[in-house]
Amino acid sequence: MENKEFKELKERLLSTKKNGYDRPLDEAAMEAYCDGYKAFLNAGKTERLCAAETVRLAEARGYRPYVRGMALSAGDKVYLSNRGKAVLLAHIGEKSLAEGAQIAAAHIDSPRLDLKPNPLYEEAELAYFKTHYYGGIRKYQWVTIPMELHGVVVLRDGTSVPVNIGGGPGDPRLVITDLLPHLGAEQGKKPLATAIPAETLNLLLGSRPLGGEEESGRVKLAVMKLLNDKYGITEDDFASAELEAVPAGDACDIGLDRSMIGAYGHDDRVCAYAALKALLDLEKTPARTAVCVLADKEEIGSDGVTGMQSAAFDTFMEDLCEAQGVPVRVCFERSFCLSADVTAAYDPHYADVYEKRNAAYFNYGVGLCKYTGARGKSGASDADAETVAYVRRVFDDAGVAWQITEMGKVDAGGGGTVAMYMANRNIATLDAGVPVLSMHAPFETVAKLDCYETYRGMKALYEAKS
Ligand code: MN
Ligand code: MN
Repeated sequence: MENKEFKELKERLLSTKKNGYDRPLDEAAMEAYCDGYKAFLNAGKTERLCAAETVRLAEARGYRPYVRGMALSAGDKVYLSNRGKAVLLAHIGEKSLAEGAQIAAAHIDSPRLDLKPNPLYEEAELAYFKTHYYGGIRKYQWVTIPMELHGVVVLRDGTSVPVNIGGGPGDPRLVITDLLPHLGAEQGKKPLATAIPAETLNLLLGSRPLGGEEESGRVKLAVMKLLNDKYGITEDDFASAELEAVPAGDACDIGLDRSMIGAYGHDDRVCAYAALKALLDLEKTPARTAVCVLADKEEIGSDGVTGMQSAAFDTFMEDLCEAQGVPVRVCFERSFCLSADVTAAYDPHYADVYEKRNAAYFNYGVGLCKYTGARGKSGASDADAETVAYVRRVFDDAGVAWQITEMGKVDAGGGGTVAMYMANRNIATLDAGVPVLSMHAPFETVAKLDCYETYRGMKALYEAKS
């Protein structure tokens, strides 16, 4: 076979996935998009703050709060905040909802440390908050880093008091201490998973006592007084509070070439922002109604009133359908959903947990996952070939860089997303998202190119004619 003929045959028959930088790329647009994403991250370090920022951005682009029974016509843009912790947005399309909706579903909760209901205590004249971790964390990563605290304390009369400790410039921060190496010999022999017990994840709050030296509990009282002065709360009010400790600091560029972004909470705000921004950026009324779901509670199984398993989504869709006289079941069976969630990026340091022919790589674009789960795809919706073909076609037609991937080696571990909860509703669903390094760590890393291509992919799906 001639050299030229061999090359042509190879080109025609074998996969030729390219690094995104070797494909057409508008780098200025990518940078502008990533600046917006970093601002979104900095404004929304908890699901409540992220939901509030989402509403702010949506209203600025003409979205109105949805009120049950309101008349809706093509081109209308509405949103519904589910208890301030999850957001549903819709841009009503030209076609009837009987033709189905184009849905993108991401989550805006991230792993973190929640305060316990009785959090405040004093030990050895130091004051602490006890925490209960939320989501899958590697506990050793959460010690000796500056932390900030966000959330609400809801008083008995229903007044919601927003709390922000450490989120402003020059604010004091909180920290969880760890053993010094000099005394850490025994701890150092323990496996990573057990070396830092969950009950040692206590946030250091203060050391300055109040009152005379004959008194006890002086540091705890001093801290409670500061909280009372600032927020008007007492110790019993922690019972009805949601206070979340998250890593302090802003998102930043990573690498000498600034090609990556480091931040807390890429999982899954990187896909949430892509799904949201693509919706807000639609220049024309979409053919099918475009729906963006930003859910809560994914990291603990999508249960709960603000999670993807909640009827809140069905109710919203039912309300939209009712306005058009369409049964929601008819809409669902013709709808498509992109379950937009991050995937594990290949890390050459830990090559043995990946299967390199099916891993997701930085700068190769949005990662499609036909299935997630573990132990032989258990816990996955396992999208059908037709659904994958559909997404392939839409992405290719729009020139979106994408890769088809698995999370790691078979039986190396696994994970889940909201995909199965959408698929269980009789909605054709495929997982897709941004590859992440150090997923679930206090500081995760993504590639800018993949963020931008994910946004472009979402936009192409919202804009798809069928
Ligand atoms: Mn996720
Ligand atoms: Mn996660």
